[in-house]
Amino acid sequence: MNSFRNSAGLMRRVLIVEDEPINREMLGNIIQQDYEVSYAEDGRQALDMLQAKDKKFSLILLDLLMPKMDGMTFLDRIRTDEELRSIPVIVVTSEEDAEVECIRRGAVDFIRKPYDMPEVILARCRRIVELSEDKAVIRSAERDTLTGLYTKDFFYEYIRQMEHYNSRRDMDAVVINVERFHLINESYGRQGGNAVLQRISELITEQLNSCVGIACRVEADTFFIYWDHRDDYETLVPEMQNGLDHSDIARTRIRVGVYKDVDKADIEEIWFDHAKTACDRVRGNYTHQLAMYDLMLHKRTLYQERLIRDIDGAIRNRDLVVFYQPKYMIRGDRPVLCSAEALIRWKHPELGMISPGDFVPLFESNGLIQKLDEYVWREAAAQIRKWREKYNRTIPVSVNVSRIDIYDPMLEEKLEELLERHQLSPEEIMLEITESAYADNAQCLIEVVERLRERGFKIEMDDFGSGYSSLNMITTIPIDVLKMDMKFIRNMEKDEKSMKLVELVLDIAKFLKVPVVAEGVETQSQLDKLKERGCDIIQGYFFSKPVPPEEFEVFIQNELNRNT
Ligand code: C2E
Ligand code: MG
Ligand code: MG
Repeated sequence: MNSFRNSAGLMRRVLIVEDEPINREMLGNIIQQDYEVSYAEDGRQALDMLQAKDKKFSLILLDLLMPKMDGMTFLDRIRTDEELRSIPVIVVTSEEDAEVECIRRGAVDFIRKPYDMPEVILARCRRIVELSEDKAVIRSAERDTLTGLYTKDFFYEYIRQMEHYNSRRDMDAVVINVERFHLINESYGRQGGNAVLQRISELITEQLNSCVGIACRVEADTFFIYWDHRDDYETLVPEMQNGLDHSDIARTRIRVGVYKDVDKADIEEIWFDHAKTACDRVRGNYTHQLAMYDLMLHKRTLYQERLIRDIDGAIRNRDLVVFYQPKYMIRGDRPVLCSAEALIRWKHPELGMISPGDFVPLFESNGLIQKLDEYVWREAAAQIRKWREKYNRTIPVSVNVSRIDIYDPMLEEKLEELLERHQLSPEEIMLEITESAYADNAQCLIEVVERLRERGFKIEMDDFGSGYSSLNMITTIPIDVLKMDMKFIRNMEKDEKSMKLVELVLDIAKFLKVPVVAEGVETQSQLDKLKERGCDIIQGYFFSKPVPPEEFEVFIQNELNRNT
């Protein structure tokens, strides 16, 4: 490619700003073999041409002494313009003294009058244009166009350079993430989302102005910062949150993870993994938005890594077992066993019994939950079939469907295949979806739930009232059963207000015409109060903890004995 044509094959354009017609012409003649040339007679006219933006210039050749607006003033003016300042300016002058002043004002080179060496002038123009374009290419690759912060690769590259020259400095790795950013995009549009990200990068840049450090943006709504070690995060984070709250954009909450005084023996990526781990600790936490990476967290991370490593083996060796907790219908004279919930247990050969609270959220965060849930569904389906054959009656079993499963395009096929294999009907295997999943992406969830219901599956909304759904959402989402969150039951006898909440949930269910399951019922008195108020089904330690299938058979047998 010809150096004076751009990548589209067009000739680059040069603006000559000069009041003397003879000088204009001479200069034009020299460079017009390589460039398309435009002319302005003074600074004022040149500014007008540049601001009209109908032509893009690669270079400006500027005289100093001109009427209306002189060269120096012109230099000052374009330096304050975000776009124009990137066009390189070569000053044409006969005054040697002016050179220092011109450099100070942003000129990049000089051409001496008279123009007695055309070859040299042309070569200079070419070199300056090339340099300035290379700079622009590098800048566009190293900077994120939206925020002006570094891109991830360059960020790590510059950290390595900083470390090369200054490896003894104590530094912190910081990760900032926007809580539920997708909701901001959904509610305020991309522009609203972008404004939030720009504001955050401004707040970061403000901080960077007073310390040594750099920052970048990764994966849409995450920022990495590497800067001097500091101890004021407890005040800094609220300060930044304040800066966001006072800007004229969507309500946003940031969460921040800090790995202080990074261990230089590790590689840079590990530092930010640690900071990110800390940041994830406060995901969805509305009282804390800052977390530090410390020894406790380090141990936890190691433990979690172990679980991730061991999951495949656990499925193979059947260390994962499904327990069943009975649900009793309490509408009649005596409670009647009506179904069960399948709950996973991990009997780890070295770590002992691990409860789902320790691994379900972890596997939800990395997608492994799908594998685990499918295992539970397979086990539960086989169990339903076994009981049907043994007792000649169906005990429907509810399985938990994680929010991650909802996004699996094969979800329905997988469930149908299970039914087919064990010759079950869809009402025999019920699907519990936790309320918080409804808040993630309500539209997608509604569609999936509708399709599942069309195929005959029954949907139970789990943990209802745990704080995510709005009344509006409840009325638009099709469900078959409402499972009241356990905390209502725990508190209902403690104060009047909690009892009122239980009544409210029961009213909502009545309005929706769906039965309510009360989870976590532990006492006769809780059961009586719920029954009095019209609750339909009870699940809880009052009847039984979740038990292995053999033990569950005692409940089935009891039920059968009563009926005979
Ligand atoms: P969940 O689906 O709301 O399950 C009910 C939890 O309440 C179970 O805890 C159960 O053992 C416990 N529970 C039942 N009755 C009582 C009671 O009277 N008192 C008390 N204190 N607790 C009671 P578990 O088995 O530890 O499970 C915790 C959560 O883990 C479940 O909440 C569910 O969200 C998740 N989980 C369990 N198994 C699976 C699974 O196979 N897949 C998925 N995706 N999540 C699962
Ligand atoms: Mg459940
Ligand atoms: Mg529940």
